[in-house]
Parts: sequence; C-alpha cells; structure tokens
Amino acid sequence: MAEKNLIELSLLENGLDFIIRGIDELYELYDDIEYQPYINPVSQPQKDYKYGVLHLFSGFLLLLKERLSHHMPELIFQGKMEEVKRKLKTNKELNTVTLDEALERLEIGPQVTFSASDLNVIRKIQTFRNRFEHYKFLVNKLELNKIIIDFIELIDRFLIKELKIDITSTSFYINPEIRAKVLSIESVYKRMIDKRKHELITIGERKLKKFQRNRENILQQLEKQAYIAYIDEGGIDDITMMCPMCCEDTLIIYGEFAGICSNEECNNYSLLKTCDRCGQVTTGYEWEEKWCDNCHNEIQRMADRDD
Ligand SMILES: [Zn+2]
Ligand SMILES: [Zn+2]
Repeated sequence: MAEKNLIELSLLENGLDFIIRGIDELYELYDDIEYQPYINPVSQPQKDYKYGVLHLFSGFLLLLKERLSHHMPELIFQGKMEEVKRKLKTNKELNTVTLDEALERLEIGPQVTFSASDLNVIRKIQTFRNRFEHYKFLVNKLELNKIIIDFIELIDRFLIKELKIDITSTSFYINPEIRAKVLSIESVYKRMIDKRKHELITIGERKLKKFQRNRENILQQLEKQAYIAYIDEGGIDDITMMCPMCCEDTLIIYGEFAGICSNEECNNYSLLKTCDRCGQVTTGYEWEEKWCDNCHNEIQRMADRDD
C-alpha cells in the first residue's frame, strides 16, 4: 500500500514539474518587485518551443498515467496484466505505456474519454513533439501558440475533473506543494491568454489598415470569391453577419478579411469563432465556449417556457 502511494505521488508531482518546466521554456517570466511577473515572448522561439513542447507532452503523459494508476497501478506498464504482475514481483524493469496505449486503457478501464476537439489538440501537440524530436522544421508560431494554450487549458480541466485537483476548492485537503504547482500553471495560463489577446488585437489592427487602404477593391473581390465558391461548392452561407458594434449586416465572416466590419462609419474588428452549439460563425475568443445569438435566444425561450 505504501509503495502504491509512492508511485502515485511521484507520477503526479513529476507530471506537474514537467508541465511547469515546459511553460518555463516557452515563456520568460520577469519578476518585478512592484508588478506581477509578466510574460515576454522568448527571443529564440525555435529552441524554446522545442523543449517547451517536449516537456508539456511528457508532463501530460504522466498525468494520464497518474489517472490510470488510480484505477489500477499495473495499468501504467506495457504488456499483458498477468505478465506485468509477474515481472513486478521479480523486480524486472518494465516500460510504461505510450500516449496511444494510455488513451486506450483510460477508455477501457476507468472510462475516461476525451472529446473530439480535445483529441485534436492532443494529436497536434504529439505531432509537434515528434517533429521537434526528430528533425528541424519551421513552425507556424501563431498556430503553435494557440495549440499550446488549448493544451494547457485541457491539462487544467483534466486536473480538476479526472485527478480531482481543484485548487479553488477548500472542501478537501490538497498537498500544499501540489497546490502551489497547479496554481502556478493556472496563473501562467491566465497570462498566456492575455498575451494571446494582445496578439490577436494586433493582427486585427493590421488587417483593418490593409482593408481601409483598399476597401472598394477588397469588397468587390470578396463578392466575386463568394460567388465562385457559391457556384463551385454548391452554396456557402452569408459572407457577412450582424456587426455587434453598429448592428448593421456588415461584419465580414468570409476570407482574408473576416472579422472586419465593412461599414465605413464603424471600423470595428471582431474576433470570430464557431458557435459551440450549432457551428455557425459568431464573435468571441476561440478558446472560450460561446453560443451564437440564435442558439442563445433559443435556449432562453426554452428556459422561459419551462418557468
Ligand atoms: Zn460595424
Ligand atoms: Zn449556434
């Protein structure tokens, strides 16, 4: 029994350590006496991204093993259960499971499953990790930044839901060291989100300037493109939606200038995402769950009816 606890603690602690180290590699934290530490983009992203992603991935795999070991400690080792048990008795070296084996065993044993979009994030991180490990490659920083944020958010949810580590909860005891580690992951996550917001706003400002310089041409092109897409693909939905600022049907949701309001008096830029309920384009941050107005109203009507 004592041995079992030892394994569990080291899996969880090691997992958190790897994740924190990964974040350290990705983001430089500047401690300021007066202000909260803040993140600056690293000067050599290639190198830091590499070690950052390698560590995040290893940390996550350890957390998956931690969850498996809650169900049955032997599950973290490769091979048939009988064999594993026999080898453990004779103190033989055993390999632990790979990501795919861990995911499969989590599903069969404790019935832990990930949503399709979570699996997509996990697979993308795995792909980046494999590439980083085996060869040099050019990385799309924007795409990788987004996936890393999604991945850390996923890790955060996994800690709460599957490992029952909710640092905001006071209802049960959490080892203070673990609490501190999780807290530092969460605070970094929040700061990463802020940084990502800045990035997106800068991209928006650039897009808007480009649009304003060539407004008429771009609008004409857009209509042409939409028409071609309409003929070729048998119909695309509207190329605009209602702008949340001016309330005109002028917010472009198609093509390179998606997010820009074409109303000359408005000049709004909105971030776009797909509604988490129906898949329609709506405004909002990509990492936040949000429903479109239609879905929102529909749910409201249903709730009103139930009252
Ligand atoms: Zn507008
Ligand atoms: Zn919707």
